[in-house]
Amino acid sequence: MELKICHMYPDILNLYGDRGNVTCMVKRLQWRNIPVDVQRMPLGTGKSLNGFDLVFIGGGQDFEQQLLLDELKHGKAKEIKAAVEDGVTFLTICGGFQLLGNYYKNSQGRCMDFVGAIDMYTQGDKERLIGNYKFQCCPEAGGSVVAGFENHSGKTYLGNGVSPLGKVLKGFGNNGSDGTEGAHYKNVFGTYSHGPVLPKNPEFCDFILETALRRKYGTAQLAPLDDRAELSAHDEMCRKLD
Ligand code: GLN
Repeated sequence: MELKICHMYPDILNLYGDRGNVTCMVKRLQWRNIPVDVQRMPLGTGKSLNGFDLVFIGGGQDFEQQLLLDELKHGKAKEIKAAVEDGVTFLTICGGFQLLGNYYKNSQGRCMDFVGAIDMYTQGDKERLIGNYKFQCCPEAGGSVVAGFENHSGKTYLGNGVSPLGKVLKGFGNNGSDGTEGAHYKNVFGTYSHGPVLPKNPEFCDFILETALRRKYGTAQLAPLDDRAELSAHDEMCRKLD
């Protein structure tokens, strides 16, 4: 049993230490003696997504997101969409989450055509949605309560039939108005939560890992870990947000 993880665009989409999510996934697999192979895929490397079990895409400012457009247009968007439809597990954060939608029209009115893997769009606004927040994942996404941090000007609106990752308990989420947070489509987990989100949300992390293992091996039951430190950080943040 092993997992192959692709870290896409670590060079330009890594706001708020989002790469810490990859470190967290690696450690939680290694602590269970599950081999894991992480390959970075910076912009322009032209590597294929074939053979990966899990893809991670972090967040980035509008400028960095614009740097991706040419590569997306010349085949990467099609490849990402095919991987999503094939059931590859994705964890995408903020700008990386927006990237899977149809487009992002930023607050300066610049419209960026994105991947179109999930039927949703993002509309930028002068007012940024910033702060610590918490949400509860939908049952199909594990049902855990996640404590996170968000900072985005883009407001995302899900298409009909697209499930949110969860419902906002405190904070803004996708757009500050419809109470949804992120998106959960096939094995894609999209969230606005930076932080990085996984270290203090171990249940969410393990659910994502089990999703990738289950797709590859048919079954997955990760052994419990001593998460007292992680849960202490999680519970403290949740308490502050009550
Ligand atoms: N640039 C996007 C926005 O402002 C995403 C920001 C982010 O990844 N934190 O909404």
